[in-house]
Amino acid sequence: MSDSTPTLPIMPVSRRKRLVGFYDLSIEELAAKLQEIGAPAFRAKQMYNWGYEHFVESYAEMKNLPAALQDQLEEHLPFRTMTMVDSKVTDDGDTYKLLYETFDGQVVETVLMLYPDRATVCVSCQVGCAVGCAFCATGLGGLTRSLSAGEIVQQTVDAARQAKRLGRNLTNLVMMGMGEPLQNYAETMKFINIIHDPRGLNFGARRITVSTSGIVPRIDALAEEPLQLNLAVSLHAPNNDLRGQLVPVNGRWPVEELLAACDRYIAKTGRRISFEYALMNGINNSDETAHELGTLLRGRLCHVNVIPFNPVEVLDFERPTVEMIDRFAAIVQSHGVPTTVRYSRGVEIDAACGQLRARYEASRGKSGVQPTI
Ligand code: SAH
Ligand code: SF4
Repeated sequence: MSDSTPTLPIMPVSRRKRLVGFYDLSIEELAAKLQEIGAPAFRAKQMYNWGYEHFVESYAEMKNLPAALQDQLEEHLPFRTMTMVDSKVTDDGDTYKLLYETFDGQVVETVLMLYPDRATVCVSCQVGCAVGCAFCATGLGGLTRSLSAGEIVQQTVDAARQAKRLGRNLTNLVMMGMGEPLQNYAETMKFINIIHDPRGLNFGARRITVSTSGIVPRIDALAEEPLQLNLAVSLHAPNNDLRGQLVPVNGRWPVEELLAACDRYIAKTGRRISFEYALMNGINNSDETAHELGTLLRGRLCHVNVIPFNPVEVLDFERPTVEMIDRFAAIVQSHGVPTTVRYSRGVEIDAACGQLRARYEASRGKSGVQPTI
């Protein structure tokens, strides 16, 4: 993307040393890499087929590659750059949590959710997050580093493989794990382009949702992208007083600027925006706030997802009762704004909002994000 306003407080892609692996490369880049190590470029297509259609887990499984090339690749381009260190499943078997350690010892989590009609993966795009929303476990320890495109691709492919083992196809992807995708814009777009490539995973753009806390210039950049992505905007409050306390980037891009960017996005793409609203008792769930939200959003091509707050033990917020949640949603809906209540999946295995990572890090005695138990 071009960023004409360098003074904006947007985190650059981490400049730490990176480990480039198979999943970081577009098919053209892979072809170039093969030529660089003296192998024919046509192998790239074969390798993409093994990696993204057969979901192999090593070069050794790419049966039609010469053994010498497999060895060379192992040396020059690691196949997987993250190790899966744990996986958990809920008792009813419909939510899986994958936990990774990166090459530099960071912990990353991914959640696969199975529904009757679809299978959705929730990927992380950063370790921690610089935005620091008041109610979010991920933001507690700040940003450690952004993930590379390949690290996000690996999460997706592992989820697709897991779904396939269960006799299912991975159908949807949401960037609602750890991190702020629009503060890791270049790698996020690279990741999306790799999984979208019809010669590889062929993941439809319309099945991908990018969720943001409201990084306005990057919402405008996203509107210019040729892909038909879904955009979710984490609104959480209908006015600046309240939103400023919950979502710190509101100080830089207040509600009116955020909604203006959303309107530009809708006008440019013709696509409906989802507004996410984490509902916290006594904070943003009064009848008055519900009316204010309904009035604010009325007439827009949008949908509101009310997400009942997932308790984070070191934080003082509370989840409202079911009656309160339904009442809030009904009031917003009464303004003609389509509204759905979405309960987070996998709370029992800490699959919601950075919790398992915190627990895993506590168990191996690493400082960083505070444990939530
Ligand atoms: N950084 C992006 C995407 C990751 S967060 C964003 O903020 O949109 C994904 C969603 O989970 C966001 O809507 C976020 O506000 C919400 N969320 C974070 N912590 C939560 C919690 N404890 N309970 C409910 N929702 C939460
Ligand atoms: Fe970051 Fe999103 Fe958590 Fe806010 S809610 S701290 S933007 S991950």
